[in-house]
Amino acid sequence: MWILGIDTSCDDTGVGLVKDGEVVVNLVASQVALHQAFGGVVPELASREHLKVIRPLAEKALAEAGIGPKDLSLVAATRGPGLIGALLVGYTFAKGLAWALRKPFYAIHHLEAHIAAAWPPGLSPPFLALVASGGHTHLFAVEALGRYRLLGATRDDAAGEAFDKVARLLGLGFPGGPEIERLAQEAREKVPFPVPLKDQKGYEFSFSGLKTKAVQLVEAGHPAPALARGFQEAAVEHLAQVVIRAAQDTGHRVLLVAGGVAANRALQARFREAGLTVYFPPRGLSQDNGAMVALAAWRRYQGGFPPSPLSLGATAYWPLEEA
Ligand code: ATP
Ligand code: FE
Repeated sequence: MWILGIDTSCDDTGVGLVKDGEVVVNLVASQVALHQAFGGVVPELASREHLKVIRPLAEKALAEAGIGPKDLSLVAATRGPGLIGALLVGYTFAKGLAWALRKPFYAIHHLEAHIAAAWPPGLSPPFLALVASGGHTHLFAVEALGRYRLLGATRDDAAGEAFDKVARLLGLGFPGGPEIERLAQEAREKVPFPVPLKDQKGYEFSFSGLKTKAVQLVEAGHPAPALARGFQEAAVEHLAQVVIRAAQDTGHRVLLVAGGVAANRALQARFREAGLTVYFPPRGLSQDNGAMVALAAWRRYQGGFPPSPLSLGATAYWPLEEA
């Protein structure tokens, strides 16, 4: 059974094809170069670029899989949250395709898709899921597919956003996460950063203090590699401390780490020594992509969830607990 999944929630156009729960094709057209000159994503430019790219990318994905549109059993797209103009392009394209093919359509929550990317086939809930990405640092208790309880989120910047901001401060490229990781590996020494919210009882995150600290340390003339390493270690330690405490308090022993930041190898190493059973997305599935949307749709289909009505619109704001 073939499922086409589309994500255009932000600045990447993602089209993926999943066959019986296995990722076969996963194409992502990056817009990084387009937005670089502006120092951030320009929503209107992102929408227009999605519009240009979506159809050829979908055709290319089908060609790479060696199938035609008629071989699809269902079509899925990210409904939200994200940039509304960007979302509308992929979401409307997918609805149009489903309608033309007379096939079911699944409207997918972007964070459920990130979680689906890290969710190994045989694993049943309950478990904890940390989504650490460019726009989210959210810790959920996943009670079942579609039943999410938010335990804590960031008070300020998202984890990936902090990597991006500190990278920019150090004169590195975008996205900042991989750049910081590379530079940290080269470092022979490190400048220690304080771990945020060390003494809290809850499960909140905060990254703005690390960013401010990085500004001060740059001004004090510390070398970039040592700064990158110190920042990365504190950010990872913060994520780990909150999640480990939540695991102890709730009794959960299984954890999924999802979202772009989950690709970080220092993070993976730290979580692997946490005494929990931890799963990460396979390579290429942690950052935004279409295959994770198709994987979420596959899970929904398998779980007996009904398809979404084509009258349902995209939405910029949509808490996962309501998905
Ligand atoms: P959201 O899912 O919250 O809407 P997004 O879709 O923009 O945000 P993703 O594509 O999941 O986010 O992830 C992108 C983020 O992941 C960027 O902030 C990027 O810097 C970060 N990231 C990617 N690779 C790494 C890495 N190796 N280490 C740390 N951060 C990373
Ligand atoms: Fe994302």
